[in-house]
Parts: sequence; C-alpha cells; structure tokens
Amino acid sequence: MSAIFGPAGNAENFPYKSSADAPRWLRQLGLDCYEYQCGKGVHVGEATARKVGLAAREAGIVLSLHAPYFINLANPDPEALQKTIGYITGACLTADQMGAGRVVIHSGALMKRSRREALDTALASLEAVIRACDEAGFGHLALCPETMGKINQLGDLDEVLALCQVDARLIPCVDFGHLYARTLGGLDGPESMEAILNQMERELGEERASRFHSHFSHIEFTPKGGEKCHRTFADDGGYGPAWEPLAAAVARRGWSPTFICESAGTQAEDALEMKRIYQACLGDI
Ligand SMILES: [Zn+2]
Repeated sequence: MSAIFGPAGNAENFPYKSSADAPRWLRQLGLDCYEYQCGKGVHVGEATARKVGLAAREAGIVLSLHAPYFINLANPDPEALQKTIGYITGACLTADQMGAGRVVIHSGALMKRSRREALDTALASLEAVIRACDEAGFGHLALCPETMGKINQLGDLDEVLALCQVDARLIPCVDFGHLYARTLGGLDGPESMEAILNQMERELGEERASRFHSHFSHIEFTPKGGEKCHRTFADDGGYGPAWEPLAAAVARRGWSPTFICESAGTQAEDALEMKRIYQACLGDI
C-alpha cells in the first residue's frame, strides 16, 4: 500500500469538457485519484454520476466527492441542521452513484461563539448526520471532516480529530495548506509534519490514521484571518507549506493516505510533482 495522488476538480490544462473524460486523462498522466467538486451544491444528475463512476473504474481512478462549502455542522439552529442533513445525504447519494467512497465536509463556522460551544454543536450535528446516513443506506461511505484555513472557522486539527471520534467511519481530511494558513505559517517543516501525523495516530489509532484523506496546496494567508487564497507550486509567493517533509514522513511510516492537490489551476501537474517527490522518498528508505 502507498499514498495516492490526484487533483481537486479539473485543472486549467484539462483538455476536455466533460468530467467523465477526467479519469482516463488522469491515468494517462500517471495519477491515481480524483476529487469531484460539489462545493457550490450537488448539481449532478444520476446519469452523469454513473458515467463518471464507470470511467473512473475503467481507468482505475479512486473517486472522492467534495460536499457543498456552505455546510455548517456548527450551526445551532435546528432547521439549519435539517438542511445540513439534506445536503450531506444528497452528496452521499451522488457519491454512491459514482462509486466514490469518501465525502469531504467542512466543519463549520464559529458564528461568534466560543470554539468549545461551536464544537459541541458540531459534535451533536454530526451524530444526527451519521444516523441519517445510516437510515438512507449510506453507512458504507466515509465522511471526512476537513481542517479549515480561516481562524474563525471550526476545524483546527484538534477539532477535526474530536469530530472523528463520533464514529469509526469518519476519516479526517487534513488540509495541510489550511493548517499552515490558520497558524500563520506555523505548521510547516519536518517537526510539524511529524507532530500532525503523531497526533492523528494517537487519537485515531494507526490503522485509521494511515488512511487519512488530505488536501494539499500552498496557501497565502493574512495575519488576522488566516487563509487568503490558494497558490500554485510555480507561483507560491513564498507561501508554504513545504511538501517534501510531509512526503518523507508518510513514506517512512508506510502509510497510504489520499492526497488531493488543490493548487489554483495547476492541481493536476502539481499532484504529479507531489507523487514524484513522494516516490523519490520511498526510494530513499
Ligand atoms: Zn474543502
């Protein structure tokens, strides 16, 4: 087992119009996986979902799906929770039609409450979401709460790992660019990468930790808010985090995470660069 690599959505140099052409193109490039983007809402018909899924199976590309960005597990309004449940089960339906095993969800916003209050709300919401997923027949799908890039969002590593304690099917989506941005560049370099992986292992056990889901890109931040925008490897403006230390740490552990590259427009070529460096790390062991 080893790590797998692919882009979030279609890169600028994707030469086709339909996402059903993406899996074959990615396989030709030498990539392994593809995160289908439903950030602005799930607007995929069943026929399209099945077409993308078939193309992915034929090309041997592993699919995941990014649920809508507006999902906020930390919203205390009961009506909002019902909507959240609808959005997540809707994303699961499309994921299931595609054969995507993982659905990435944002943790939520603080809405001017303490981090603890927001987390408690999100924990309760997530329990309700899990029950609804089971009732709808989506118990086999892994939901992946994501670490978020803005300081006023719920979703630092502690909070995401706390959310993952709600159920064994939950897998953290560790967005290393987001962690870097929300710590104003603090989480970068070999010691930080080891600390992140060690904490995951401690709180989830090595087996679940070793299969973590991940987003990676270089992210520009502002001193007050955290995340400002995603950059590319070729034009990162000096922003990190550095990929090499993480690649080396994952290779050394023999873990098999999924790395989705979220570079702004060059996510396919940058995913390939990540894979090349990771394979060089494997060769060094
Ligand atoms: Zn995300």
